[in-house]
Amino acid sequence: MPLLKSWVETANDPDGDFPLNNLPYGVFSVGGDDPRCCVAIGDKVLDLAALEAAGLIGVQGEPVFDHPFLNEFMELGAEIWAQTRSKLQDMLADGADPKAITPALHAQSDVEMHMPFIVVEYTDFYAGRHHATNVGTMFRGAENALPPNWLHIPIGYNGRASTVVVSGTPIRRPLGQLKPPDADAPHFGPCKRLDIELEMGAVVGTGNRMGEPVTVQEADDMIFGYVILNDWSARDIQAWEYQPLGPFQAKVFASSISPWVVTKAALEPFRCSTPEREKTLLPYLQEPGPMLYDIDLEVKMQATGSDTTTTLSRTNYNQMYYSAAQQLCHHAIGGCEMSVGDLLGSGTISGPEKDERGSLLEISWGGKEPFTLDSGETRSFIEDGDTLTLSGRASGDGYNIGFGTCVGTILPAIEKENW
Ligand code: MN
Repeated sequence: MPLLKSWVETANDPDGDFPLNNLPYGVFSVGGDDPRCCVAIGDKVLDLAALEAAGLIGVQGEPVFDHPFLNEFMELGAEIWAQTRSKLQDMLADGADPKAITPALHAQSDVEMHMPFIVVEYTDFYAGRHHATNVGTMFRGAENALPPNWLHIPIGYNGRASTVVVSGTPIRRPLGQLKPPDADAPHFGPCKRLDIELEMGAVVGTGNRMGEPVTVQEADDMIFGYVILNDWSARDIQAWEYQPLGPFQAKVFASSISPWVVTKAALEPFRCSTPEREKTLLPYLQEPGPMLYDIDLEVKMQATGSDTTTTLSRTNYNQMYYSAAQQLCHHAIGGCEMSVGDLLGSGTISGPEKDERGSLLEISWGGKEPFTLDSGETRSFIEDGDTLTLSGRASGDGYNIGFGTCVGTILPAIEKENW
């Protein structure tokens, strides 16, 4: 599919993230007014609540866009998603009359972006083979790198929806129990091995009922779209707490998402297959078609006090061993109810090469191989004041489907006396 030309000139920039082909959804406010739903087009946001109030878009019944979240729109289902997308594309297409639409456009530089949807529950997976192999090698040795279930099950754990935040939100360094390998007992204090995890998040748009499992195809149909996700991690807290029930405090202090939810419709031309299976999956987990996406991903780091940004890693979502549809199917297969606004983290996305790793734990190999930033500082993990920026885009024929950025700066831990 070529670039769809728009009368919004900046949407036709071949290097831009937000052409008419994309139209990702978000929630914005301008000048401190009430947050409401929008789409991105070029360097603008389009106020969907205003279009709905003017009767230019919408379905019969209550307005769905005049809310600080997308959940009510997502809940309407795939047919309405498709109709709305098609209507917006017609209105914004080159040759359409801009007159009624122009008042609802705002410069992206003038608006504040908010959480795009209410995260009802958050589940994080561990479905990147290179990441799981690297981490498993560090934690348990090369012989036991992949647990025996890994090639059969998309492994996951239930995270916390309460601490999923939008890009730009500062992240407080967590406190917790730490036990260095040579210590006899743990001590309490600020995390010293603070890390990122480069992930994609799948946003569930329609749910299933408790006790009613879904197929992989049905799971794919339930997904509304995708975000960039930084699953911040406290590696020292994790190493001490994780057996036998998996991560707990190490993962619940923050997860950041991009402000834009890129729809499955926009990503359709970039579908690709998961890698070849080493072990045949049980039939319920087999994909009826390509359900992964070719999305280039990047991690950048800026040290505290520096104005130089260093690219640490470049990889691709197509490196995952399991797709979000497989993960969602597996999640629901035992009878678990999945809801509108459920967020599924893909698991850290690393490629096979050193400069394709999606966490600092892997890049610095557990802190044994510190790396040097372009500004001269060395790092193994994140220091207070450092800024991490994750981004992603799928590149088509003369256009990109961009996700924008997922940014976070680390604040020092809160310390109190007698801790
Ligand atoms: Mn994770």
